[in-house]
Amino acid sequence: MGIRIHNTLTRRKEDFRPIEPGHVGIYVCGPTVWDYMHIGNARPFVFFDVVRRYLRYRGYIVRYVQNFTDVDDKIINRANQLGLDPMVMAEDYIKAYFEDAGALGVAAADVHPRASLHIEEIIAMVQDLIAKGYAYEIDGDVYFSAAKDPQYGSLSGQSLDDLKAGARVEIDERKRAPEDFALWKKQKPGEPAWPSPWGPGRPGWHIECSAMVREHLGRTADIHGGGSDLIFPHHENEAAQSRAANGAPLANYWVHNAFLNIDGEKMSKSLGNFIVPREIMKRYRPETLRFFLLSAHYRSPLNFTEDQLKAADASLERLHNALAVLEQWQAVTSREVMDDEERKLLGRLTAHRERFIAAMDDDFNTADAISALFELTRDVHATMGPGSSKELVGAVIGLYHELGDILGLLRREAPATLDDEVERLITERQEARRRRDWAESDRIRDELAGRGIILEDTPQGIRWKRK
Ligand code: AMP
Ligand code: ZN
Repeated sequence: MGIRIHNTLTRRKEDFRPIEPGHVGIYVCGPTVWDYMHIGNARPFVFFDVVRRYLRYRGYIVRYVQNFTDVDDKIINRANQLGLDPMVMAEDYIKAYFEDAGALGVAAADVHPRASLHIEEIIAMVQDLIAKGYAYEIDGDVYFSAAKDPQYGSLSGQSLDDLKAGARVEIDERKRAPEDFALWKKQKPGEPAWPSPWGPGRPGWHIECSAMVREHLGRTADIHGGGSDLIFPHHENEAAQSRAANGAPLANYWVHNAFLNIDGEKMSKSLGNFIVPREIMKRYRPETLRFFLLSAHYRSPLNFTEDQLKAADASLERLHNALAVLEQWQAVTSREVMDDEERKLLGRLTAHRERFIAAMDDDFNTADAISALFELTRDVHATMGPGSSKELVGAVIGLYHELGDILGLLRREAPATLDDEVERLITERQEARRRRDWAESDRIRDELAGRGIILEDTPQGIRWKRK
């Protein structure tokens, strides 16, 4: 049995078959950078980081793309309130994203495309949609005509009539039908804008992801994900745009995590009931938050309380203690030969691994995978001791790390820091320059600048410093 994934589109678990055998393209909708991420936002970032790690563990070559929405009403409004340039403010929150994600052990994506750096691709896609008859311009605004797409509503399970009834028309919108949505918005005073065939303006909310999937993964991604609040309208609209422009589905597997709630309500920036990871990390190690977020299956709602967090911390501590004790035994044991009981436990390690894998294969059930780690721990406590053989102790430690690494847990060293990330990008940029890929080299320099890092060429090589 291989990996099975619950597909929002079909509402059932399906066998996972990537388009190109052995390769997986994943696109996850990243943050809208108008504030720090909260721990609800951290849920998809941590979960999809585990999906990526697990697919790699199962031998796939994974290309993981997660965007930054850096052109958006919320960013513009907040920046205007604070008297800041919206693009400068967005840069600051992108930097903050990498700090928080790094502390949570969420690795950087292979690409972090930004809307503001894909205006050309976005405009090309909008032009394409107009040419194919799916979109229309009205005095500098461009809208997608939902009724032109016979499959519109299929992802969120709604009919066009439901959507017509439920759709809201903003006062300043000139669209022809309430369910239509903006692809391009004409510039209003005080808003950032880019030149386009329809005059100065900026992309609508959804088109960036369709354009960036096509740019970075091709017409169809294997997996497309995000929180379940994105199913409608964001992903429904992305799906419609891509279908219309490419004649192919945007993604084969649509994966959505349930909410992190607080006091029975979705944690959200707009409701103001949010807690940021920075706050939690003052009181707990960052790994505790990661462990807590993975302690429920991703499609189950997760309720945040201080008690739950304390319980997660204590559980994680038990796993760490088991590992620390094993490491002590490893340092003192001198026994080379295993006895019969030990050989049986060595055999059972395979069963513990298989239980973990079966849980992860079953729609990435991290909750059951964590239970498998506790079963392993109970077995170890019941059967091993300071006199256990070297080989067995080594094998058990190895298994904790093998499985722990899939969840991004149980390593004692600090999680990847911003510094590691910067070093990695600098190496990548040097590679790009060696290939004479100046566009990529410039892109990496800009990305580093976005994180407040300036590069200096010195006779000793490249140095970096913070702005
Ligand atoms: P945003 O920055 O609001 O676009 O959100 C970034 C990601 O966090 C998206 O995938 C959202 O669906 C997800 N998200 C937002 N709030 C929550 C929440 N309370 N629980 C789980 N996921 C969430
Ligand atoms: Zn998106």
